Parts: sequence; C-alpha cells; structure tokens
Amino acid sequence: MAHDFDLFVIGAGSGGVRAARFAAGFGAKVAVAESRYLGGTCVNVGCVPKKLLVYGAHFADDFEQAQGFGWTLGDADFNWQTLIANKNREIQRLNGIYRNLLVNSGVTLLEGHARIVDAHHVEVDGQRFSTERILIATGGWPQVPDIPGREHAITSNEAFFLPQLPKRVLVVGGGYIAVEFAGIFHGLGADTTLLYRRDLFLRGFDRSVREHLSEELTKRGLNLQFNSDIARIDKQADGSLHATLKDGRVLEADCVFYATGRRPMLDNLGLENVSVELDDKGFIAVDELFQTSEPSILALGDVIGRVQLTPVALAEGMAVARRLFKPEQYRPVDYAHIPTAVFSLPNIGTVGLTEEQAREQGYDVQVFESRFRPMKLTLTECQERTLMKLVVDAGTDRVLGCHMVGPEAGEIMQGLAVALKAGATKRVFDETIGVHPTAAEEFVTLRTPVATK
Ligand code: FAD
Ligand code: NDP
Repeated sequence: MAHDFDLFVIGAGSGGVRAARFAAGFGAKVAVAESRYLGGTCVNVGCVPKKLLVYGAHFADDFEQAQGFGWTLGDADFNWQTLIANKNREIQRLNGIYRNLLVNSGVTLLEGHARIVDAHHVEVDGQRFSTERILIATGGWPQVPDIPGREHAITSNEAFFLPQLPKRVLVVGGGYIAVEFAGIFHGLGADTTLLYRRDLFLRGFDRSVREHLSEELTKRGLNLQFNSDIARIDKQADGSLHATLKDGRVLEADCVFYATGRRPMLDNLGLENVSVELDDKGFIAVDELFQTSEPSILALGDVIGRVQLTPVALAEGMAVARRLFKPEQYRPVDYAHIPTAVFSLPNIGTVGLTEEQAREQGYDVQVFESRFRPMKLTLTECQERTLMKLVVDAGTDRVLGCHMVGPEAGEIMQGLAVALKAGATKRVFDETIGVHPTAAEEFVTLRTPVATK
C-alpha cells in the first residue's frame, strides 16, 4: 500500500531541515513536522542568537581599546532591550528563510507537535499520516539538576528573552554554554560569577587552553569559582536570589543561569509505541547508518547525543538523505577532525587531538606553543594574551591537533581543519608562507618544540 510520504521528518532543526530538503530534492515525498520554531535550536535559541549577543558583548572591549588609537568616546551606554528586539527581528527573518527553503524544495510543512503512532504512522495535532520511514530529529533540551529552588533558575532558552539584563548573575556549569554566557553577561556589564563543580572548566579541551582561558577570564574580572556547586536556591522578598553552595557559602544574585548539559527531546514523542531503544545516557541509539532498532525509524542530530554541533547534524542529515534517496552519492559522516569554537571572550578554536588525548593514544608527542600579546592590543592598556598550540606526532611529523585561545580563533580554525583533514605534517605547516601581519601566521612559524614530560 502506498504511504502518504516516503520520509516523515520530526523536527525542523539543523539536521531535520537538511535531511528533508535534500530528500525532497532527490525526488522523495517528504513531510517535516515542527512544534516550536523553524530552524530549531541553532537558529532560535542557540548558535545564531548566541553569536549576536557575543558580538554585542565584544563592543565593551572595542570602545576601551579605541582610546589607544586616538579615539575619544563619550560614556558608552548599553540597552539590553534594543539588542534583544533587534536579535528577535533577525531570527524572525531567518524563520521565514527556513520556511521558504522547505516549501520551495517541495517538502510538506506541518506546524504542530508530532507523535509516533506506530512504525509507519505519525500524528500531528490529531491528523494521522502514513509513511515509509520516520526520521527523528527532535534535538535536545536544557537539563537542570533537581535541587530545591531550581524553579528560580533559568537556562539558555530563557536567557535570550530576559526583559532586562540582570545586575548580578551566577552561571552554573563548565561547558560551552556556561563559558559563552558568562562572557556575554560579563561583557554587557553584569557582575558575573561562574561556578563549576570540578577543578577546571571545559573538560575535554586541551589543558593549556583551559588554563589559559581561565587566566584570561580572571584578568577580565570574571569571578571563576571552581570546585563549587549550588545546593539550593531561595528567592528573597525583594526578588533577589540566595544560592547556598554545597560548602555552605551563600551567594546573592538576581539571576541564576544553569548550563549543565542537554537531554534528548523525547517528550510525548510516542516512542512507547515502537521498539526504538535508547543508549545508557537516554539518547536514541543508532548504528552507523542512523538506523534505530525499529527498521523504519532513523534518528540524527542532538537526539542521538554523539556530537551536539550544528555542522555535525547537517552532515548527518545529508548522509541520511543521500543513503535513502541518492545512494550513488552516499558518503559516511567522518567524525574525525571536527573543528569547534567556544565563543567565549576571548574565543577558543580547536581541531584534532588534545595533548592529553594524543599521549593517551600512545603517540610520541611534540608540542609547539606560543603565547603573545596580539598586535591590535599593543597601543592599548589591554594585557590579554593569545595562545596557539600544535600537537605533533614525532614519529610521522603529522599534526594531530591545533588549539587557540584568542580573537577570531573559530575563524582561524576552519582553515587549519582542512589542513589536518588532508593529513598535513608539521613540515607542511613550516613550508606554508604566512599572511603578514596576522595572528594566524604564528601557526606556520612555530619552530621549537616546548619541553614536555
Ligand atoms: P534542533 O536544532 O534542536 O531541532 C530540533 C527541532 O525539533 C526543534 O525545532 C524542536 O522544536 C522540534 N521538535 C522536538 N520535538 C518535536 C515533536 N515531537 N514534534 C515536532 N517538532 C519537534 N552548535 C554549533 O555548532 N555552534 C554553536 O555556536 C552552537 N551554539 C549553541 C548555543 C546554545 C545556547 C545551544 C543550546 C546550542 C548551541 N549549539 C551550537 C548546538 C546546536 O544548536 C545543536 O547541535 C543543533 O541545533 C542540533 O540540531 P538538531 O537538528 O539535532 O536539533
Ligand atoms: P556541556 O556538556 O558542554 O557542559 C555541561 C557542563 O555542566 C559540564 O561542565 C558539566 O560538568 C556540568 N554539569 C553537568 N551536570 C551537572 C550537575 N548536575 N551539576 C553541576 N554541573 C553539571 O553542555 P552545555 O549545556 O554547555 O552545552 C550543550 C552542548 O551544546 C555542548 O556540549 C555543545 O555540543 C553544544 N554547544 C556548542 C556550542 C558551540 O559550538 N560554540 C555552544 C553551545 C553549545 P562536568 O565537566 O563535570 O561533566
């Protein structure tokens, strides 16, 4: 019996939209259901609005540094409502672009909550559709630990819509979102403290990067409290919040912002009606073809909990569309050498292995490192330093990892990711002529390995 659709995609986020558009382009009959916002997390409450707020926060540095170049500015005044209203307008524009992309590629867009009825049927707001295959691309949702008073805390979802900039903010967590939002709040003028439960944040990043960023953020006046965690939050009569830490200290704030990881979004999805298995962390378990344990159901993106990054969800969406509907163009997703940036102030950019990972994997590691004051700051009072680091396999001379903390680290890392993916050796880096004067040229002029254990 013919189905209504060849592919029914649940979730119009990064991965779902990519899979739906390309599948339709390859001639498949495709529907996509979206309950909340077109473009998903990245466009609405993730990468895009976050980066806009980071740009906003960076102006504080620009105004200060401009004085060293002869500019005299009046007292700078920041208006949160203007930034949020302009950001909202831009997101609305992007929502429209996503709608057009889907509709123009022939995808049937169903705006409502989708629930799986059985292996070949999905219901959207009471309307039932039959489909050959279902693709779950429902993303993730912020996860706040179950402590007394957690209802007084906010997450990234709410932070993008706060009616005003809080004066005192406690940021809880030590991952991407915590570090980025601590930079946003601090840069825009809030008195900001970041609490992380272990001894150094950004676990999984290169140790030099973690230590360097910690020093730079402290220099900027961000209050970093490691080995600290909140036990309870109490709201006071005046609306302020008291956070009691596990060590008994009490911190006062106007906003407690949790960024303690994201869970898969499976709410009311109807998984109990099919035999889709979850992994030990509760994400949807899939094989290398994004196939779940239910033969007609696939899943990708944040909901499978592999690498929670937009370009990875896009690559997974493309791979699924090609495998199903254009098999001659199918290529598996290559999870090696995924470059990534943390848009802290200053930025982190990284690709490949950390020094610690390289040693664990048994490489005979050579490390090249440089710390310097960027040229742009030499006429200013700012004492910020940039870190650049290469991790090299002494046996083959291959560059295993590139790491940077400094302005535009994300921009610089994209090109280096191409080099690493192509298998570049340190000699290739050395023989590459620099672009002068830039910070990035330092990556091709690192000559002497640093002494390591
Ligand atoms: P999503 O984009 O989350 O899309 C899932 C969609 O499914 C949502 O629109 C949701 O409403 C919809 N949905 C869920 N359930 C249903 C249902 N039952 N019926 C219908 N629709 C449903 N990544 C980067 O690469 N760079 C960054 O700078 C970056 N910054 C980030 C900043 C923040 C604050 C956050 C939270 C994330 C950030 N990310 C970033 C991660 C990135 O946003 C995600 O990896 C990416 O959005 C995952 O795409 P996805 O398609 O898996 O899911
Ligand atoms: P992360 O997984 O990156 O970090 C979570 C942090 O919260 C860790 O420091 C973790 O500590 C801590 N934590 C977890 N549980 C608790 C708890 N119960 N109590 C106290 N602390 C806790 O998650 P995020 O929420 O920051 O971001 C989610 C994902 O979104 C990221 O991993 C990334 O993939 C993506 N993202 C990407 C961005 C980018 O590309 N620039 C920006 C923002 C998000 P511990 O180290 O001890 O586990």
